[in-house]
Amino acid sequence: YRGKRGTSSVVIYEPGAAEAPTGHGLLMRELAAALDRDELVLHYQPQVDLVTGRAVGLEALVRWQHPTRGLLPPVEFLPTLEQSHLIDPFTAWVLGRALADRARWAELGRDLFVAVNVSPRNLTTTGLVGTVAALLERTGTPADRLTVEVTESAFGTETEQAGDVLRALDDLGVRVSLDDFGTGYTSLRQLRSLPFAEVKIDRAFVAGVASPDPDADRAVVASVVGLAHGLGCVVVAEGVEDDAAAAWLRAAGCDVAQGYHYARPGPWRDVLGLHTNSTHSTHRTDSTESQVV
Ligand code: C2E
Ligand code: MG
Ligand code: MG
Ligand code: MG
Repeated sequence: YRGKRGTSSVVIYEPGAAEAPTGHGLLMRELAAALDRDELVLHYQPQVDLVTGRAVGLEALVRWQHPTRGLLPPVEFLPTLEQSHLIDPFTAWVLGRALADRARWAELGRDLFVAVNVSPRNLTTTGLVGTVAALLERTGTPADRLTVEVTESAFGTETEQAGDVLRALDDLGVRVSLDDFGTGYTSLRQLRSLPFAEVKIDRAFVAGVASPDPDADRAVVASVVGLAHGLGCVVVAEGVEDDAAAAWLRAAGCDVAQGYHYARPGPWRDVLGLHTNSTHSTHRTDSTESQVV
């Protein structure tokens, strides 16, 4: 085995393990195989309307069912994927899986939207737009039932290209969400001129709103709510872990909440309490603290 020169992944050779690929090189090869072998799985976490208390959508969160290491969270492998040529096929797989899953739960009477995270690299070419359009058509999904979540780091470089991609998605009727807001570098000009349907306030600010020393986080969250609403965006709070935070966010005018307080991410049948092999299912994810879906 020889690492290819000119790829963005780093291949590390351990002395004494002459031909064995390690580190990123091994991870890359495993990831390529994982995509082929369908080892990646999507878990879903509900997004809950703070006024009605009902789920309005589910966010898809990828995990890797690794043959020896167990179920791996994205932090273990996403950075490697994002540095590789696999990021576009990976995102296409996530979109295809998520839209197919959504079609199933819609058939079962739960017409919720699905939110899919895309990586900054996916916005550096226009390929994503064609992929989304084709998958919406193939799965018979109304465009407004898909939310595409982008993080602020998408606008560090390549800002113009990213803007074109987001506008094309918006033209298709897809909802575009600005994820982890407050942790990156989105300028007010970008927030104003890019077609965001939604702003997700990062959990770094959300966690503190019902803490013993809540003033600073409350000030940040309240002003983001005002700003986002002024721009016509829906406001989502991520990382809501307790009822006190949910109550404060509701009073502050936040529209939608997501977090362990409502449900941890899990397979969609568990999260929605839908099991096709039983008409009266009692199964729920063990960590679901309140029935919202
Ligand atoms: P994100 O999009 O901001 O997703 C929210 C993360 O917070 C998820 O972590 C979720 O499990 C976690 N979370 C939810 N509620 C709570 C809570 O109440 N408390 C705390 N402490 N955490 C909570 P996860 O699943 O490990 O995903 C991490 C990040 O990986 C995501 O952050 C997203 O940026 C990225 N990611 C996940 N799936 C995908 C994917 O399919 N494609 C891409 N490009 N990125 C993905
Ligand atoms: Mg997200
Ligand atoms: Mg987020
Ligand atoms: Mg986050």
